[in-house]
Amino acid sequence: MAEPVELRKSAIAWLKERTSDGLEPLTREDILDFTYQGEPFVLQSTQQGIRKPRDFEAALSFQTVYRPPGQKRPYEDDIGADGLIRYVLRGDNPNHPENRGLRQAMELQLPLIWFVGVAMVPARFQVVSPVYIVREEVELKRFALAPVNETDMLPEMMTGSAMEESLRRYLRRETKIRLHQPVFRSTVLIAYENHCAVCNLAHPQLLDAAHIVPDREEFGIASVVDGMAMCKIHHAAFDGCFLGIRPDHVVQIREDLLDEVDGPMLRHGLQELHGKRLMALPKRNAERPRHDLLEKAFERFRSKAVDGVA
Ligand SMILES: [Zn+2]
Repeated sequence: MAEPVELRKSAIAWLKERTSDGLEPLTREDILDFTYQGEPFVLQSTQQGIRKPRDFEAALSFQTVYRPPGQKRPYEDDIGADGLIRYVLRGDNPNHPENRGLRQAMELQLPLIWFVGVAMVPARFQVVSPVYIVREEVELKRFALAPVNETDMLPEMMTGSAMEESLRRYLRRETKIRLHQPVFRSTVLIAYENHCAVCNLAHPQLLDAAHIVPDREEFGIASVVDGMAMCKIHHAAFDGCFLGIRPDHVVQIREDLLDEVDGPMLRHGLQELHGKRLMALPKRNAERPRHDLLEKAFERFRSKAVDGVA
């Protein structure tokens, strides 16, 4: 019979490899490809949120389903200012077997796998692993989690109030890199079906999830409506105000660039897009860019573009 600790390690290593270190989302079918010692082994629960295999002392994985903006999620998985992620207990009973499974993982300091939903139909998940439960916030019926490898840091984190500022910074950075950024990227790229909103280019390796308003202070994961899929050149052109997007989804190129004479990138990649409508947008209205953010970004574009924009 499979030895749980070895199996757990092997599953985490397999997922790391399979997702290019947490970047690529997986479908349920992809996740079913995992085998241990030649036998298929199920890593993800189909029904409930938490998977605790029979021979395991503690939970192995848990999941959060994707809900488009505006739809209520079954759980509120929030991120606190301390950089720790909050995962709300299942149901009202803290001693539900699934909650016990997570608590056990905390007590044994075992690494967990978190499947974060980034799309429905077909369901796709970003894999965040390993993730550790740092403490239980009993009154609030939730666990505090951290996506860090260094289990030796955990006792220090357990104390909560004594958490050092440098540790908080480290946690916020890790959470951003291992959770926020990949989840944001995947939800945006999936919503735009891997197309640049501006030019329709369809190669994910050449695409980014651009924030519509870049320097907004966020503690949570940016929503799909905060971003747009853009190719590398249009992302940089948008951030640098070479290119603006009117709130009615029409592309504007900075006026002085329209008179410049240069090669095909300037001509086809920028000048010819002036006045054109965006070429790709999410099918679902709820996933389209937030109007107020587009207005704010366009205001910034207008103020930076020296000659102004019609
Ligand atoms: Zn583009």
